[in-house]
Amino acid sequence: MTKYTVDDRGYYGNFGGAFIPEMLYPNVEELRQNYLSIMSEPGFQAEFQRLLRDYVGRPTPLFLAERLSEKYQTQVYLKREDLNHTGAHKVNNTLGQILLAERLGKRKIVAETGAGQHGVATATMCALKGLECIVYMGEVDIERQAPNVARMKMLGAEVRAAKSGSRTLKDATNEAMRHWINNPVDTHYIIGSVVGPHPYPDMVARFQSVISGEIRRQLAEQTGSETPDYVIACVGGGSNAAGVFYHFLEDEQVKIIAAEAAGLGVQSGKSAATTFLGKPGILHGSKSLLMQTADGQVVEPHSVSAGLDYPGIGPLHAHLWETGRAKFMAITDEEAMQAGFALARLEGIIPAIESSHALAALEYLQAGPSEKVVIGLSGRGDKDLATYMKWMEI
Ligand SMILES: *Cc1c(COP(=O)(O)O)cnc(C)c1O
Repeated sequence: MTKYTVDDRGYYGNFGGAFIPEMLYPNVEELRQNYLSIMSEPGFQAEFQRLLRDYVGRPTPLFLAERLSEKYQTQVYLKREDLNHTGAHKVNNTLGQILLAERLGKRKIVAETGAGQHGVATATMCALKGLECIVYMGEVDIERQAPNVARMKMLGAEVRAAKSGSRTLKDATNEAMRHWINNPVDTHYIIGSVVGPHPYPDMVARFQSVISGEIRRQLAEQTGSETPDYVIACVGGGSNAAGVFYHFLEDEQVKIIAAEAAGLGVQSGKSAATTFLGKPGILHGSKSLLMQTADGQVVEPHSVSAGLDYPGIGPLHAHLWETGRAKFMAITDEEAMQAGFALARLEGIIPAIESSHALAALEYLQAGPSEKVVIGLSGRGDKDLATYMKWMEI
């Protein structure tokens, strides 16, 4: 155990834990008792590594972006998670959890999804493994994200509408948890980020840590040194960021930058910048920072990017924020969109709008000409083309 890994009680400093209804306890406890031993089995690791390579397409490249580097007068490297199968980092986690579910004897999978990216990654892995897949999605999101709903259906998943509350991600998460309570024996619940009750944040971070493991090896090959000066990633719940940061947490000379979605501005009332606006609270089974009213009601977040539109962050990130290990930046919709357009023109890469938030952090960095900056390019922008197009007309 180190300063930044989870302790025996499931806490990162003051954040984490497992705040769950009694009915969920047996499921979560079964997972807690088994996840580390299953993940360390040679057979598990062999299959995980094989499928990461032959199915997901790893290792993803670490690309020295020369024209972007010139613009910012520093050395910018892009970790190309957009080149994974299904177009983002999420598949690293869904693959890991599916293999774990199999070894726990679970034949059915339930998941929640907001924009549909995690739902698609889960449905993909269920198809690969022939497992039954049910995905809960807010009714509003089902309308907003029709292409991803179609993908999930084509992959054989059943998409169920969450019709309570604001009918978006947090409501879908509630419904998925309820489903798990009612089907504890044969079902595994795949959470899509480093959130939820212990051991989920730690388990998901470990699956995503493949990202920074590769970055270290690739930097060593390309530059002779395993460590950069900066690592930058966007934070919704925080899973791609956890993956990008993981193997650098103990290297205190590596500066860690987390980009949150400021929406229309931190003080606009339409924002998702949790570390700027949140207070400690409990959401979806763990204690973390959470955007809430004075009497503890969850505040609806806003971001142009569906993947960052979440009112909390994972407990690891709350701890990185509280200890000052990571610096958090709030990037507005406008700043992110401009960074997305710039990457398309400068490097021929259309990023997910989520990833554009990490790119926009370059504007504030003031890194020197010989410093190395690694940016997690969490996903590709195909899913966001309509939003980019609309922005160009404004
Ligand atoms: C879902 C998603 C995110 C946000 O989720 P994290 O858990 O914070 O990584 C970021 N980028 C892309 C491309 C996504 O699909």
